[in-house]
Amino acid sequence: MNSNLGIYVHIPFCLSKCAYCDFYSLGYSSQVAEDYTNRLLSEIDRWGAKLRRPADTLYFGGGTPSLLPAESIKKIICRCKESFGLDKAEITVEINPADNLEEWLCSVAAAGVNRVSVGVQSGIDDELVLLGRRHTRADVLKTVENIKAAGIENYSIDLMLGIPEQTKKSLDKSIDFALSLEPKHISTYLLSLEKGTPLYDNRNNLQIPSQDRSAEFYLQTCHRLEENGYERYEISNFAKNGNISKHNTKYWILTDYLGLGPAAHSLIEGKRFYYDRNLEYYIKAPKEVFEGDAGGIEESLMLALRLSKGVDFSAFAKKNPNINFEKAIKKAHLFKKMGLLQKKGESFSLTNRGAVVSNSVITELLLALEN
Ligand code: SF4
Repeated sequence: MNSNLGIYVHIPFCLSKCAYCDFYSLGYSSQVAEDYTNRLLSEIDRWGAKLRRPADTLYFGGGTPSLLPAESIKKIICRCKESFGLDKAEITVEINPADNLEEWLCSVAAAGVNRVSVGVQSGIDDELVLLGRRHTRADVLKTVENIKAAGIENYSIDLMLGIPEQTKKSLDKSIDFALSLEPKHISTYLLSLEKGTPLYDNRNNLQIPSQDRSAEFYLQTCHRLEENGYERYEISNFAKNGNISKHNTKYWILTDYLGLGPAAHSLIEGKRFYYDRNLEYYIKAPKEVFEGDAGGIEESLMLALRLSKGVDFSAFAKKNPNINFEKAIKKAHLFKKMGLLQKKGESFSLTNRGAVVSNSVITELLLALEN
């Protein structure tokens, strides 16, 4: 395995918890953040010496990476350069538009950050309040100005679908807002109600869009983004002029990635492992938990179908001579007739309508594989 690694660094701090969120994050304390940064630095050294492989993406995700002092981000980047090269690397940080990041963005850009992902979620202030976000639409405008002023041209925004009380009209307004920000990349997320979150507890008092309604929202989003030059290169991700997320693409094509921090997952040389959702343990003594082997035919097919590049069954058949793909290919042709798959060259990929029911399409294709 000699392809370049991706490195993910989890920053598990948030100033407050959004109403829908069940990610691993804790309140911010500067002392804990410093201890955590020091642990990350020694982990980068340790993994660098162990793997001795170059990386070409570094992604700070959260939590809220923009809570970490710019100096800490800089130290982590420098240490990753020492251990993993990061030659011409894509270096992304997720940021929360609630915070005034004017100086912070300039500092991290000088340290090598060349891509920013902004948690916009909606262009409607009332929806942001329902989601328990700390920011407003005006904050997003200011943040994008600051990103541009820092000289970072490659920025992505997150947009959420299926927000309580969302309508086709309000979604259209959010899409208009998203387009007006001129991002190079847009990630869409379907809100899922997770048990234990305030939104879940309050679900009976809210208009939660039905599955059918959310499917309409998805198709509406695909249509609007595509007509404005954004290509859906993965089920939930859209890029303008080929500006895909190089880091996230590693997850879908099963390229190795190293995840550092509590709750971070890794795939190294066919093995998946993660760290527990416990910051204290991670700072004291990080311990990998083995999750299983990766890269089986089912996982490879499922991930390939998420991408617009799709699946070339004959290439899969060559790599997997023990598996009979005939029934799966017949099924794929049937899905093509139904408008759920399309065929470009030798590859089948999901249409927008197919993406709405991707789980069923993928399951049916996998069930049609024969040993
Ligand atoms: S900012 Fe992100 S990680 Fe933090 S609580 Fe909100 S959704 Fe969760």
